[in-house]
Amino acid sequence: MTDTSFTYSQQLMGTTVSLQLLTENLQAVAAVFNTIKALETRLTVNRDHSEVMSVNHAAGKHPVIVSDLVFDLITQAKQASLLPNSNFNFAIGPLVKLWKIGFSGHTVPAADAIAEKLSLSNPSLIELNKHDKSVYLPKAGMEIDLGAIAKGYIADIIKLVLAQYDIHQAIINCGGNVLTIGCSPFTIDKHWHIGLKKPFADASSLLGIIEVQDKSVVTSGIYERYFMQNNQLYHHIINPATGYPLDNELESITVISDNSLTGDIYSTILYGLGSQKGLEELNRRRHIGAIFVTKDKNIILKSNQHFQFTLLDNSYQVCSKN
Ligand code: AMP
Ligand code: MG
Repeated sequence: MTDTSFTYSQQLMGTTVSLQLLTENLQAVAAVFNTIKALETRLTVNRDHSEVMSVNHAAGKHPVIVSDLVFDLITQAKQASLLPNSNFNFAIGPLVKLWKIGFSGHTVPAADAIAEKLSLSNPSLIELNKHDKSVYLPKAGMEIDLGAIAKGYIADIIKLVLAQYDIHQAIINCGGNVLTIGCSPFTIDKHWHIGLKKPFADASSLLGIIEVQDKSVVTSGIYERYFMQNNQLYHHIINPATGYPLDNELESITVISDNSLTGDIYSTILYGLGSQKGLEELNRRRHIGAIFVTKDKNIILKSNQHFQFTLLDNSYQVCSKN
């Protein structure tokens, strides 16, 4: 066992991205952060210009040809949006921009404004042409938002970047999206230890420790971005059926999967399904493990052959469903 590691952090993608390596390799570190910056520049909708914003700006006017990479991610985002009972919706942009949750100027919008934006958030209308790799939003005001999927996609690419430098043991943490690569040299059983954050507590307060090897650990939680108004909490995951934040018994959901794209998609889908329907969905997807944290302080472990969990906070109760 070794106890040496090297951690590098940068503010990117609206969060702190950190990379933990076992050997000092500054070339690899530069390649990782440069890759994230380049991908963010293409995918973001929080700046006026990006490849995705060029599609959004052309809504109701004309299709826009995008790069193979952006077309690939948009194709996967559309597939996830059209899954049966999916609360994942990559056409949610007009509502995200209206609510501004997590950004300055957030407010509860007027009901008629929400209704108007809902009519612009239908993912099945978005036309993808795989021959010329173009994307067309047929109504003015439509907007793609890849916020629920981009970090997972980028984390998987970072694993490939590190492999080019012959690095096969590392952790990349994109604020809530953690990808562990290979096995850990720090523990006897070679599992990486990932903290599960306590909702609404300071960043260092943990509910427990998730132990995994070569897995992605992605959390979607209502405490990540939210605001309070009239004693009501409004968080950043929008119900595509109503246009309001999804309302259920969950505070967070963590998905343990082989790749981070799957984890990112399912964290959003399972959050929307809630614990009961989410557990049913996971019965059909045995390759995914999950941890549901409920507002009444239950922690439900599902398919925990993919991970181990140690409780640190005794005000919560743990149960397992296999
Ligand atoms: P995540 O933290 O992965 O669950 O992603 C949340 C982000 O995805 C939000 O900040 C929005 O940018 C976007 N988003 C919000 N609601 C949805 C939704 N229903 N489907 C897809 N993306 C969403
Ligand atoms: Mg997600």
